[in-house]
Amino acid sequence: MEATKKRQLGGLPPRYGFMLNPYPDQRVWQCPLCERKTGQQKVPLLIHVDPLHLIALNYTCRSCRACDLLIGQKHDIEHLLTELFRRSAPTVIGNAYLIIGTVEKRIWREGVAQPKGIAEMLPQASDFATYYNELRLTCPGYYRAEQEPPVLEPPVSQEWVKETPGPWRRWTERIRAGSRRPKR
Ligand SMILES: [Zn+2]
Repeated sequence: MEATKKRQLGGLPPRYGFMLNPYPDQRVWQCPLCERKTGQQKVPLLIHVDPLHLIALNYTCRSCRACDLLIGQKHDIEHLLTELFRRSAPTVIGNAYLIIGTVEKRIWREGVAQPKGIAEMLPQASDFATYYNELRLTCPGYYRAEQEPPVLEPPVSQEWVKETPGPWRRWTERIRAGSRRPKR
C-alpha cells in the first residue's frame, strides 16, 4: 500500500489520503493502515471523467481520522456516476475516470444549482495528499503457517462499463503515468 507523489491540480493545499475499496460487499470497518475502527465522512469528491467532465460528487466515505484517510467504495461511486451521466451524457458511461481530490462544500453546493467549469472548480479543490493503491483483501479461510493466503480478486465494474474503450483514455492515463502510477 505504497503512496506516490503527484503533480498538483487543485489550487488548495493537498488533503487526505485516499483509497478505493473495490469489493462491493465489504465495508471497511477497520482502517487498513492503523486498524482503528473507521467512521464516515461526507465530502464532495472531485472526479475527472474522460474526455472533459469534472464532477463534484458529494459522497460518504469511510474514514480514519487518525490517519486522515478516506476510503471510497468503487462500485458505489461508479453507480452514482452512472446515474449522473445516464441523463446528461450516456456515452460517457464507462470512460476512464480519476478521483482527484476534494472540493470545498460551498463550491459543490453552488455547483448543484449551476454546473461549474474546470476553471471555477480547480482553484477550490484539494488534491489528495496521498493516493494509495486499491484495497486488497486475502481469501478468508485456514492456512498453514508458511502459507500465504491468496488475494481475493475484486469483481469487475458492473455498471460503469463500455463495450470498447474510447479514444479518450489518454488524458487520464497521462496523469496516471506522470504522477500517480502505483509503485509495485
Ligand atoms: Zn487509520
